[in-house]
Amino acid sequence: MCGIVAYIGKKEAYPILIKGLQRLEYRGYDSAGVALIHNQELNLFKKQGKVSELISFASDKDTSGTIGIGHTRWATHGAPSDRNAHPHFSGNSDLAIIHNGIIENYASLKAELSQRGHQFSSDTDTEVLIHLIEDIRIKAGVDLEEAVRIALNEVVGAYAIVVLSKKNPDMLIAAKKSSPLVIGIGETDEYYIASDATPIIEYTKNVLYLNDEEIAILKKGEELRLINIKNQPKVPYIQELEMQLEAIEKGGFDHFMIKEIFEQPTSIKNSMRGRIDLNKGIVSLGGIREYKQKIINAERIIIVACGTSWHAGLVGEYLIEDFARIPVEVEYASEFRYRNPIITESDVVIAISQSGETADTLAAIKLAKEKGATIIGICNVVGSSISRATDAGSYTHAGPEIGVASTKAFTAQVTVLSLMALSLAQAKGSLSDSKLRQLMVELSTIPEKVEKLLNTDNQIKAIAEKFKNARNFLYLGRGYNFPVALEGALKLKEISYIHAEGYPAAEMKHGPIALIDEEMPVVVIATKHGNYEKVVSNIEEVKARNGKIIAIVTEGDTEVKAIADYTIEVPETDEALSPLLTTIPLQLLSYYIAIMRGCNVDQPRNLAKSVTVE
Ligand code: GLU
Repeated sequence: MCGIVAYIGKKEAYPILIKGLQRLEYRGYDSAGVALIHNQELNLFKKQGKVSELISFASDKDTSGTIGIGHTRWATHGAPSDRNAHPHFSGNSDLAIIHNGIIENYASLKAELSQRGHQFSSDTDTEVLIHLIEDIRIKAGVDLEEAVRIALNEVVGAYAIVVLSKKNPDMLIAAKKSSPLVIGIGETDEYYIASDATPIIEYTKNVLYLNDEEIAILKKGEELRLINIKNQPKVPYIQELEMQLEAIEKGGFDHFMIKEIFEQPTSIKNSMRGRIDLNKGIVSLGGIREYKQKIINAERIIIVACGTSWHAGLVGEYLIEDFARIPVEVEYASEFRYRNPIITESDVVIAISQSGETADTLAAIKLAKEKGATIIGICNVVGSSISRATDAGSYTHAGPEIGVASTKAFTAQVTVLSLMALSLAQAKGSLSDSKLRQLMVELSTIPEKVEKLLNTDNQIKAIAEKFKNARNFLYLGRGYNFPVALEGALKLKEISYIHAEGYPAAEMKHGPIALIDEEMPVVVIATKHGNYEKVVSNIEEVKARNGKIIAIVTEGDTEVKAIADYTIEVPETDEALSPLLTTIPLQLLSYYIAIMRGCNVDQPRNLAKSVTVE
């Protein structure tokens, strides 16, 4: 949510900021803006809409300057509009701020500041913060650094901010709490700041991830200084970025989403790399090794997550209960944290998040930690807040996911959960050696099966063409493929804006069957596994009411083929691993339908990736 980017150095800032904003646009695209200092002037350019709107707006203006800040917004307070676009100015127009997060006590601060004569020109919480900084600077007669520090002690909520001052044209001040912020250190003490490393990677690989309540003071040609909001000096921990530039570019594909769908043979392989040793017959997840016994002995495992990660968590529940026989509950992080859950020291909480920044999941972790539970993380982004807040965990290693609708991150999460379930089962002895081995071999062959499946691309395109104008879709699955049905429906909703619902196939007759008529496409996952005959009966029930069936079937299937309107074959695999295959055609179906409807698949309306607000 909201992308922030800033630069201070010798180069022209504007092109760096714009490129950075384009890379961060997945985080929000309600408005975009930049502020630059040039010839003692603080110049502001901001526009509702995408970064492209800002570019055309600023095209005939002087955007010079070697220091500047930029923002792409996902609105929380105040409608998407020019006036609510960041950067925001202080009343005396000396200070400018960009912000990602929510200042929760903004209303009371605003009332107080208004009483003291401050006038606001936006509806945002962010503007209140820059007025507060200005107020403190003037009232307390302190310098900017101190004013920012004092102000941050007064705010409640989440922030990643960068502050720019006309009076201090050689300095940027950056700070964070809950929302992410990373600083890139260039060659001659020039600095790049951003919400994630993607705007930085082409300039430098040396980065510093700010911790909560840390403030960085960045001056041209000087070494970075770090303090916390209690004014204690901190030692910056500079690390080297492992990300490659190609990983964040489209590489010949039309959209990030389709690129990421096609990357899955590799991303799944990367999730497994070094974790299965077929010769020794061992599955090991280094990150949780020390906690394995604790997990095996856990009273229960609670998986907390949001959105697509929650669907991966559901697959995880089936896997862990099935293989390792440990009770698992899956919770929406947002519900878990607010419902006074019973958590004890013998519980293990597994938190799943692609970005590792999901605010609700992070808060759920904090709650569970306070109650003494052991916390295991499954994240994609290395060094992210969740990965740092957990006791142990495993990265999914899917590589950067830029498309807002998650695809390769989901299959990577399911892969890691499969490995986790297998490794727990191995340690516990809950699966026979032969079954374990068979599953390990099966899992190792998934990437090539995904590769094969991606070749059905054209066939799926043809099905998409037939159903692109549907107004509703139903997705049905049983057992391991029930979460896949939920995920398939979510994917379609997210990017094509067609209403879709996922249901356990057997539940259809308890309600959704009333919706079925000749207008209603029903996607059924009907692979040849335990519940196959039952699913066939569900298909018959839909057909009897003239519904249209798109069935995902196992290669060589004849029974479903005879009754379904359309079928898509997936290679044979163990039922427990089948979500890794059955998900793929559903991703492609959503993608092609959305494209055919003219939707922006990488930046679907109202959505943003990395949900850092609650
Ligand atoms: N609360 C700020 C706004 O609405 C920032 C939103 C965000 O970070 O998502 O402008």
